[in-house]
Amino acid sequence: MDRRSLLHTSAAMAAGAVSGCALPGQAQSSAKTPFEVAATTIPIVGSDQRFPVRRIYCIGRNYAAHAREMGSDPTREPPFFFQKPSDAIQNVAPGTVADHAYPTLTKNYHYECELVAALHKGGRDIAPEQALDCVFGYAIGLDMTRRDLQRGMGDQKKPWEIGKSFDHSAPIGPIHPVARLGGHPAKGSIWLKVNGQTKQDADLSQMIWSVAEQIAQLSRAFELQPGDLIYSGTPENVGPVVRGDVIDCHIDGLPNLGLKIV
Ligand code: MN
Repeated sequence: MDRRSLLHTSAAMAAGAVSGCALPGQAQSSAKTPFEVAATTIPIVGSDQRFPVRRIYCIGRNYAAHAREMGSDPTREPPFFFQKPSDAIQNVAPGTVADHAYPTLTKNYHYECELVAALHKGGRDIAPEQALDCVFGYAIGLDMTRRDLQRGMGDQKKPWEIGKSFDHSAPIGPIHPVARLGGHPAKGSIWLKVNGQTKQDADLSQMIWSVAEQIAQLSRAFELQPGDLIYSGTPENVGPVVRGDVIDCHIDGLPNLGLKIV
């Protein structure tokens, strides 16, 4: 098959993508390129394979108390989504404290500890009852945020990218396959400490939209694909870190994630 008919075939496959939690068409054939672009991958616990990252979706204001601290009313405004670039991932090995560079341009750099769902199937208009079939596994992650820039842009009704979607803004631990976890985490402690002092302390059951509901909602707006990650939102008591601070965060059933701000 020549290159043109390959392109036709993949376009037809894309157009014919089915609703529900479906396996995707084949990946693009390997085209000749003038230089290489590094792929983003995350270690998979208990495997020599790595999880290839396609997109990073993040959910905003998915815990009521955090929505209120951000100035919105969770009974009137539903959670919403934004994205980070896939190369914003910073892999952090369990049992280590990784150096994390304080980013440029901000004077108010915030942590947000979050459960991350990693998808191995996708689709459009996925029913909540089928959504968890799309989840390959889970990890602990941080949605690091230049809060002053996020707020400043929000105040001007401009996009948030500069506050949320910058380099290394998505530290993450390894991905634990669902089978290894013995199921999908729907409750359990989620906490974050800075220099040993507890800052965030909540329970996964306090999410407004469950992971299944997040997948269902997202799939109405975007066709989800294998390799997509969903940062499922942070609980209340987000706050700042400065150079020298050590972050230790935890979700029941997953190893802690440690960072030192440098
Ligand atoms: Mn977040």
